[in-house]
Amino acid sequence: MTAPSLYLAPTLDAALDALAERGTEGTPLAGGTWIMRAPIRHERLRPAYVGLGRIAELTRIAPDGDKLSIGAGATHAQLAGALAGRAGLRALADAAGRSANPAIRRAATLGGNLCTADFAAADLVPALLCLDAEVEIRSRDGSERLPLERFLALRPSLGPGRLLTRVLLPPAGGASAHVRLPLRKAGDYPTAIVSLWAARDEAGHVTQARIAVGAVEAVARRWTRLEAALAGRPLDAGDAHRLATELADDFTGRDSIEAPGWYRVGVLPALIRRAVAALH
Ligand SMILES: Cc1cc2nc3c(=O)[nH]c(=O)nc-3n(C[C@H](O)[C@H](O)[C@H](O)COP(=O)(O)OP(=O)(O)OC[C@H]3O[C@@H](n4cnc5c(N)ncnc54)[C@H](O)[C@@H]3O)c2cc1C
Repeated sequence: MTAPSLYLAPTLDAALDALAERGTEGTPLAGGTWIMRAPIRHERLRPAYVGLGRIAELTRIAPDGDKLSIGAGATHAQLAGALAGRAGLRALADAAGRSANPAIRRAATLGGNLCTADFAAADLVPALLCLDAEVEIRSRDGSERLPLERFLALRPSLGPGRLLTRVLLPPAGGASAHVRLPLRKAGDYPTAIVSLWAARDEAGHVTQARIAVGAVEAVARRWTRLEAALAGRPLDAGDAHRLATELADDFTGRDSIEAPGWYRVGVLPALIRRAVAALH
């Protein structure tokens, strides 16, 4: 087998050109923390990698109109640092700041986390779902924005030559939290993840809630029945735990070597309780 080629793109346009020229052979390489483990997963390395690590534009985190734009090349560590202290965005800051371990957090990127179709336990995905994020996809032919939920559905069939360039977050009032259950204390992929965003009225009743669950099924998704059940009520951890227990059969947990599916679903009410408590 010939060794894969690596081209380090100096600019975004150069990366898009290189990917277009390489067609189905070309693959973006961001932090490389998923790609480097291909042999452990018994996967072949791809013939040609286009490195994104030198593209300064992809690491920018800055306001864009009333939204916050986060470049796909921002690492977990950069994200956690940039978002610290913003209550509405705490789910994302905690997801970025508590996943994996410090060395991985300095290398793994937002784009890599969202674009790895086979990675069910990605922390940033549920955090961004609960924050109602959009993603921008670019190719040599142009760019489009789509809700993260839609991107996740399209992700397995996204053609070659496309890059996720940034994530856009709407203004986040309210408060958010991200809780995860690793099997051991550190370094593990989480068994189940809950990200919660909620806005409340002056009486403390929920006016809107968004809840996303990760790691339980193959792809993270919103828990819309629980969101509806919480609306109009005071946000109470015990109450939320009871409702989550009643609605937990909305999920069919995935079995894996780390944990059986029933266990992943079974821990959800406790994670909901912790997420609600964390909002207070
Ligand atoms: C020991 C360990 C523990 C970990 N624990 C966690 C954890 O608990 N939670 C968590 O969320 N993550 C965790 N991670 C990180 C996670 O598993 C992935 O490795 C990481 O999210 C991939 O990001 P990356 O930038 O390194 O992507 P890469 O490995 O460079 O790429 C991954 C995939 O995304 C594609 N890609 C990358 N960027 C783009 C882009 N901009 N546009 C289009 N496609 C792109 C690549 O082509 C490739 O297919 C852990 C990693 C390790 C090694």
